Amino acid sequence: MRKVICPGSFDPVTNGHLDIFQRASEMFDEIVVAVFHNPNKEKAMFSMQERVDMLQECTRDIANIKVDAFTGLLHEYVRGQNANVVLRGLRALTDFEYEFQRALMIKKLDPDIETIFMMTGTDYSFLSSTGVREILAFGGCVSELVPECVEKKIKEKQVQP
Ligand code: ADP
Repeated sequence: MRKVICPGSFDPVTNGHLDIFQRASEMFDEIVVAVFHNPNKEKAMFSMQERVDMLQECTRDIANIKVDAFTGLLHEYVRGQNANVVLRGLRALTDFEYEFQRALMIKKLDPDIETIFMMTGTDYSFLSSTGVREILAFGGCVSELVPECVEKKIKEKQVQP
């Protein structure tokens, strides 16, 4: 059985992430989307639980997907899941630099783990969670960039005092 781990911050999940999950679900038997708590990232917009909940909601039509959360070392998490493949999405050259280093670092720590990359969908090459958060910080509309459940959650947050 081919199992793949898709790790990320997903703060919040975007249509670009969903496109990768959808395409990966046709290539693998099981996908685990793993929400990673990265202590080096600036303050998150959504809590880990909120991110997991939104991911669960917007992926519920994908039968072979599971959403989980983790903190710590990725290669240890991957092993704990009885998997050895990590899937990351690739947008521009800037992603490549970072992903290349990360993939080699994981390989150094555990040579049996493979990181594979999937090219962004043609409509999503500009789309990032950071971009979405920036638009929101200035009151902009992200309805074409994120799934409906994320938009709903954002609106709920905006009406909170
Ligand atoms: P990070 O782990 O850097 O916090 P993100 O949560 O932003 O990553 O994204 C998780 C994964 O999804 C990463 O592999 C990232 O490159 C990929 N990704 C993000 N946005 C897109 C997009 N628009 N198209 C394809 N892949 C994407």
